[in-house]
Amino acid sequence: MKTLDLLPIGDLAGSPGSPGLASWGGGARLLQNLRRALADSLRVPARILEARLDPRLAFHAERGQYHSSELLRAMQPYAANAAWRVLGVTAVDLYIPILTFVFGEAQMGGPCAIVSFHRLTQEFYGLPPDPDLLTGRLVKEAVHEVGHTFDLTHCDDYSCAMAPSHAVEWIDLKESTFCPSCQARALEAVG
Ligand SMILES: [Zn+2]
Ligand SMILES: [Zn+2]
Repeated sequence: MKTLDLLPIGDLAGSPGSPGLASWGGGARLLQNLRRALADSLRVPARILEARLDPRLAFHAERGQYHSSELLRAMQPYAANAAWRVLGVTAVDLYIPILTFVFGEAQMGGPCAIVSFHRLTQEFYGLPPDPDLLTGRLVKEAVHEVGHTFDLTHCDDYSCAMAPSHAVEWIDLKESTFCPSCQARALEAVG
């Protein structure tokens, strides 16, 4: 059976950027909400893996960030067992060498994708915590990265989940669903 496996990477509850998360139920609740929302929007069973990946292997001391491509590589063994897709979820700040940060990264055509909520919290921007807004942003970015594993590229429709986002304001403009054209391509890729 096709399942989307969510792999926690590092300590989700202890995100330094989101102290408000702990009082709200922490990373565990965030992950449960994400699991439910992804199962609904992608219409596949989704489960949270018991395993946890240690992100330290991808830590870059000078940048104080984690190289997302190295984490994707480290996720491959989990994909070998999984029937379909593996989505890594982390609180650590991700980067690729050519960019100051990334919200996430995916392997085009699958099977692995990763998403970080480090820069999705209101606290990161000096604002009061908003767990519902955080959940919504995380779902949108997760659908976006999983979309890349279906071979979907970026979309010009600003409300489509496949629209590119280089700031949270862009994420807040879009939906957690694909536009009709991306949806059709996703269905084709998923089969
Ligand atoms: Zn993208
Ligand atoms: Zn689209």
